[in-house]
Amino acid sequence: MAKRVYLFNEGSKDDRNLLGGKGANLCEMTAMGLPVPFGFVITTPTCREFFESGNKLPRHLETEYNVALRLVEEKMGASFGDPDNPLLFSVRSGAPVSMPGMMNTILNLGMNDEIAEGLAKKTNNPRFAYDSYRRFIQMYADVVLETDGEQFEHEIEKYKKAHDKTLDVEMTAQDWQAIIAIFKKLVDFPQNPAVQLKEAIAAVFLSWNTPRAIFYREMNNIPASLGTAVCVQAMVFGNFGDDSGSGVAFTRNPSTGDHEFYGEYLTNAAGEDVVAGIRTPLPISHLQQQMPEVYQQLFETQKRLEQHYQDMQDMEFTVQEGKFYMLQTRSGKRTGRASVKIAVDMVNEGLIGEKEALMRVSPEHVDAFLHPMIDVNAKTDIVAKGLPASPGGATGRIVFSADEAVEVAAAGNKVILVRRETTPEDIHGMKVSEGILTELGGMTSHAAVVARGMGVCAITGCGELTIDYQAGTATTDEGVVMKRMDEITLDGSTGEVMLGDIPKTEASANDDFQTLLSWADKYRRLAVRANAETPEDAAKARELGAEGIGLCRTEHMFFDASRIDIMRGMILSEDKQERQGYLDQLLAFQREDMLALFKEMHDLPVTIRLLDPPLHEFLPHGEEELVELAARLGKPADKVREIVQSLQEVNPMLGFRGCRLSIVYPEITEMQVKAIAEAAVLAHKAGYNPSPEIMIPLVVNVREIRAITQIIERGIISVLEKESVSFPYKIGTMMETPRACLGAERLANSVEFMSFGTNDLTQMTYGFSRDDVGKFVPDYLDRNLVEDDPFVSLDQRAVGKLMKMAIEDSREAKEGIKYGICGEHGGDPRSIQFCHELGLDYVSCSPYRVPVARIAAAQANVTLT
Ligand code: PEP
Ligand code: MG
Repeated sequence: MAKRVYLFNEGSKDDRNLLGGKGANLCEMTAMGLPVPFGFVITTPTCREFFESGNKLPRHLETEYNVALRLVEEKMGASFGDPDNPLLFSVRSGAPVSMPGMMNTILNLGMNDEIAEGLAKKTNNPRFAYDSYRRFIQMYADVVLETDGEQFEHEIEKYKKAHDKTLDVEMTAQDWQAIIAIFKKLVDFPQNPAVQLKEAIAAVFLSWNTPRAIFYREMNNIPASLGTAVCVQAMVFGNFGDDSGSGVAFTRNPSTGDHEFYGEYLTNAAGEDVVAGIRTPLPISHLQQQMPEVYQQLFETQKRLEQHYQDMQDMEFTVQEGKFYMLQTRSGKRTGRASVKIAVDMVNEGLIGEKEALMRVSPEHVDAFLHPMIDVNAKTDIVAKGLPASPGGATGRIVFSADEAVEVAAAGNKVILVRRETTPEDIHGMKVSEGILTELGGMTSHAAVVARGMGVCAITGCGELTIDYQAGTATTDEGVVMKRMDEITLDGSTGEVMLGDIPKTEASANDDFQTLLSWADKYRRLAVRANAETPEDAAKARELGAEGIGLCRTEHMFFDASRIDIMRGMILSEDKQERQGYLDQLLAFQREDMLALFKEMHDLPVTIRLLDPPLHEFLPHGEEELVELAARLGKPADKVREIVQSLQEVNPMLGFRGCRLSIVYPEITEMQVKAIAEAAVLAHKAGYNPSPEIMIPLVVNVREIRAITQIIERGIISVLEKESVSFPYKIGTMMETPRACLGAERLANSVEFMSFGTNDLTQMTYGFSRDDVGKFVPDYLDRNLVEDDPFVSLDQRAVGKLMKMAIEDSREAKEGIKYGICGEHGGDPRSIQFCHELGLDYVSCSPYRVPVARIAAAQANVTLT
């Protein structure tokens, strides 16, 4: 039979899985010779046994822990259940993965009427003894007996009022005795310490399955099968008098990462008083003045622990009558900026290596260097939650249209654009907004993709809102009404909408950030490109380390207000000649843009995707817009209405878009290829080395590729012949339809690269419309019907299977094809890990995700020895 109980001198920090994080670290500190009150740990497999046998403690467990208990008594020089010299215990949970505050704890266990009296006598401190006893009754009733904890607090308040007292410190021993008498009328708890211990162990196991613990596990992908250990540790008391106290400390500053010892201390207080925030702790320097020797011991201990664990530690300690005790140590939680600083500093101090430093930083942590972030401690008034579409925090006045956004911003205000959804017509408003909030749309909707590209904070799919443009209100399901010009704050990293102005930390890259990224580049295999179409985006992408453009959505080049009508004119053309007129205008713009992109990227590859406009994104939406557009195009409104109607599609996302457009209107592709080739020639002549990669979207079969390749090659050759220069170019395909993936071996011979467009591939594999997922995916997530939003984190099981199959089959048919991904998943750390495993050559993501991708790609490739 496996050993179920480990004394603190029988384990080590490597026993996390068996003894839980807390238990393993208590053992480690004991082995280091630190002053840890002695105790024992009941293992995590015992927790599993407990659940498997219908919430019953294993038959021999009590005998096993009683053996350990006797040894603890010996070591502590006190006896469990002995009124003359009582030993009390803390009974705490401790899972292999930290789940702070999610499970239960019972302190001062082992008390009863007789022992309280004995403790009062022995310590000559009756106030302490009865305060400890009433705390025990409260905790035991709450955790083991599951009675309503509120009633105890209520009774204390009632008593204080009746006796003209306000603070706990004003309560005397007699007062606490009176409270105990009241409590005993409310609950019936066992006086026998052995029974208390047994019941407490079972209650801690049970707390593994409280709703809040389950919720936390789901949020953090912690397997339910792990179970918790139980740490039973001799109590020491910080509330013994003025030479006692409790504190928490960090080996480095957890907010800034500065290498300074940082902590808080509360005199004459139990540990839970520090954590509960009832009294305000004082800076640790206070302890230094009060008890310099104890402080020195603490200071030496924290130094040793950090050296030993080679990571920033978060510690809990207690001082009892001038004697120092360590109660806990663990890796400290830290802000994004602190995490990078600590990792880089520790390499410079020789504590860890570069690879280890890379693994210490969560890729998302780098957001703190790129966007202002909401101060988590300052969050109040959260009124709604949507999808975290584009990270960072933003505050501004509510506006409900793009024009209004421009107007209000021009008057010197910060604005938040609130829309049911966004379309290309809203771009000018999106550009001037601090943040964007939409009721509809998923993580790959127009608003999400465009905002991410601009680095603007956004929340999409906030279905709890009802937006009334006419009334100028956005109303939450709870009935909170947010009006035009009200100030709100968005947290695009969590999807939370808050009222008022919430404090933020400023974004700025620094040397540590650059150092860490340079290490990431050293250790990654995957290349990182950016999705960008404007020279500004391309410049940003390069600045953030992109090694090329992996997706230039050419239709986005026409989103600008000055150009969108030309695009619409082309879409609404009645014949080839009219269309050609618009195409000629588009050619000039396109050539100019391409040239700017080539110059910006210099000699790095630029992947240009042929036009792929879902038509509904470009057609006018209301009657008023339609009439205005008709006037601008010089066409009768009736005619425009008729054409718009004829172009209406039931499923625009599956309709006349992608390469289907090139097949039906080859002149569009001819124009685009001419623009690309002429721009490349101009760039070449200006001393740059352009290398365009022309990409065909939404392909389903090789015949489409062959037909369009002919147009592309003809176009390029005719320009090259005229100019008698040459530049390297490639032709490839997007892999966005299940059919393309399933038939990849037939596409292989006709392409030089394949780029997975996982937005559409996810849409088509699931049959979930990417613009409508906001309506139902949150429910799916709540009910655990999907593990993640598949538009956020790549669905490895099915979409990933299609990708894997496509790579293997095409590789078998032809060597040397380059593989990439340019769907939004290209910027998601978990998806990047998967892309690395699939053997892709590059990922491409929005410019602001490039640093995140560089780190994630390095982490995917680093194995620590
Ligand atoms: C995709 O479908 O993944 C893609 C990159 O193309 P778009 O988002 O423009 O449809
Ligand atoms: Mg697509």
